[in-house]
Amino acid sequence: MIDGFGRNIDYLRISVTDRCNFRCTYCMPEKQSFLPHIDLLTYDEIMTLVERFVQHGIRKIRLTGGEPLVRRDIGILIAALGAHVQQGTLEELTLTTNGSRLAEFAPLLASAGVKRINVSMDTLDAANFRNISRGGNIDTVLAGIDAARAHGLDIKINMVALKGENEDALLPMASYCAEHGFDLTLIETMPLGSGVAEREQNYISLDSFAAPLRARYNLHPLAHKSAGPARYWQVEGLGLRLGLITPMSHNFCDQCNRIRLTTDGKIYMCLGSELHVDLRKALREGSPQDVDHLLKTALRLKPQRHDFEAQLAKPELRLARHMNATGG
Ligand code: SAM
Ligand code: SF4
Repeated sequence: MIDGFGRNIDYLRISVTDRCNFRCTYCMPEKQSFLPHIDLLTYDEIMTLVERFVQHGIRKIRLTGGEPLVRRDIGILIAALGAHVQQGTLEELTLTTNGSRLAEFAPLLASAGVKRINVSMDTLDAANFRNISRGGNIDTVLAGIDAARAHGLDIKINMVALKGENEDALLPMASYCAEHGFDLTLIETMPLGSGVAEREQNYISLDSFAAPLRARYNLHPLAHKSAGPARYWQVEGLGLRLGLITPMSHNFCDQCNRIRLTTDGKIYMCLGSELHVDLRKALREGSPQDVDHLLKTALRLKPQRHDFEAQLAKPELRLARHMNATGG
């Protein structure tokens, strides 16, 4: 699938639920309403769409949410997608999770052919972790990470940079990741979603956030590429591979290879845009040809770049949609 700007789209992120057992302050408000179950794509519907996507050139799928591991019977979907990996029709199946249910799901993920996962963890400090996630328990997450590692999964820790909230957590997190052989990816907060207070106050560029690490260690750029938007650095002396995702300060849209399927069956072509097509309607009321037609339309809708910078500066331009609806 080649979009209007010549980019090859081969990576699909599927938000399998908008629900979550955490309420991270930067992601959604404390009181958040969720979609009724009838609006959710069923696992059969997701797999029907996946067949079409694979036909059209999607090679990598990441499950996300909301918290993907809280959707009931998620193992059914993971196993069905894993069968595509085993047949070679998909190159890779991955997952982004808050880690709270990893201990339970690690065996299933490993047996489905998942090789690596991203776990989101913004600090190792138990009290601060509880504050940022509004109720999460760091020990449960760390135990989940240990279980995933014991089942042979490669782990990347995602850490969102939050001014005044977790700047002092960076060096301990970098040491923890180096010690365990995990990659660490830092992410700038994006101004997505209504009702999330203190957007402007929380934003810090990764140039500033990573300054203590640069002051202490030499960082060398690496040629390594993953399916996502991170640029990678080697932290010398620590033996850590560090990814930087800088949607705000260093735009990376020219390399974008991703589209996103929402919980209710919409395809959003860009996290920073409202442009989408509704595949659920085509799926429930139309034919496979209608789905194919909408996919072609969607490719034309993919914007050249997002405009989060303007959206941070002007609240009236911000998208009401939260990260959990589209999937991070
Ligand atoms: N619940 C899972 C988790 O937290 O890993 C998967 C979904 S979550 C929306 C995916 C990623 O998006 C997480 O790493 C989270 O930290 C990140 N995220 C959520 N809201 C964000 C925001 N406003 N700006 C930047 N990253 C955000
Ligand atoms: Fe839940 Fe992930 Fe959003 Fe946190 S970032 S509230 S864990 S979906």
